[in-house]
Amino acid sequence: MIVGERKPLEQIREKVQDYKKLLILGCGTCVSVCMAGGEKEVELLASQLRMANKLAGKDVEIGEATIQRQCDREYIEPIIEKAKSYDAVLSLGCGAGVQMVADLLEPETVVPGLNTRFIGVTLEEGMWAERCRACGDCVLGETGGICPIAMCAKSLLNGPCGGSQDGKCETGEGRDCAWVLIIERLAKQGKLDNLSKVFPVKDHSAQFHPAKQVNEAYLRPEKEEAHAR
Ligand code: SF4
Ligand code: SF4
Repeated sequence: MIVGERKPLEQIREKVQDYKKLLILGCGTCVSVCMAGGEKEVELLASQLRMANKLAGKDVEIGEATIQRQCDREYIEPIIEKAKSYDAVLSLGCGAGVQMVADLLEPETVVPGLNTRFIGVTLEEGMWAERCRACGDCVLGETGGICPIAMCAKSLLNGPCGGSQDGKCETGEGRDCAWVLIIERLAKQGKLDNLSKVFPVKDHSAQFHPAKQVNEAYLRPEKEEAHAR
C-alpha cells in the first residue's frame, strides 16, 4: 500500500487560509489503513481546523467527505458537484489521489494535506515500513523475496557492501543489512547458489516517468490515441 503522513496542522492552516468554504476529502483505501487520510482523520482534522479558526475569530465553513479511492475516477465523479460548491478541497489522499481529484475538479484548487512517503507494509498496528520502490524490473525471485532496492540503504543489487557489520547496515539506526537478510533467507531456501550470479547494472529504462500501463483487453483504437499522449 501507499503510506503517507499528515502534514503539520500549521502548514495546512497556512495553505487553506484564504478559503471561506473548505471541503476536507478523505480516501478510504491505503491512507486510511495507515491512519493518515481516512474518515476518522478527516473528522479529526476538521475539528482541529474549526477550533483553530474559532480561536482566531475566522468564519470558515468546513465540510467533510471520504470516498473509497481518490485515484479512481468512478469514486470521484459522484462528489464533483458537492466539491465544486466549495472554494477549495483539502485532499487527504496520496499524491496520485490529489492529482486525480485536481484533474476532475479543474479549475478548482485542490490542496494536499498529506506527504506521500512510500510503498510499504504494516509491521504491526501503527507501524509501517517501506518494501518496494516500484523499480519496474522485480528481482524478488532471485533475492528470496527481500527487495535489495528498497531494503538496502544503497540499493545494491550485489551485496553486502563492506560496511555490513554483525548483520547491521553501516548507515546506522539499528537497520538490518538487507543483504544479510537476503543471504539468510536464501540459505533457508537452499538457494545460496543465487549469490554466484552477478546482477548486471540496473536497467533504469524500466523506470521511466511518468509511467503508464494499459491492459490490452481494454485497449480500443480511440483509447490507444489518448494513451499515447
Ligand atoms: S525489485 Fe523493484 S519491483 Fe521488486 S520489490 Fe524491489 S523495488 Fe519493487
Ligand atoms: S550494510 Fe547492507 S544494507 Fe547497508 S548499504 Fe551495505 S549492503 Fe546495503
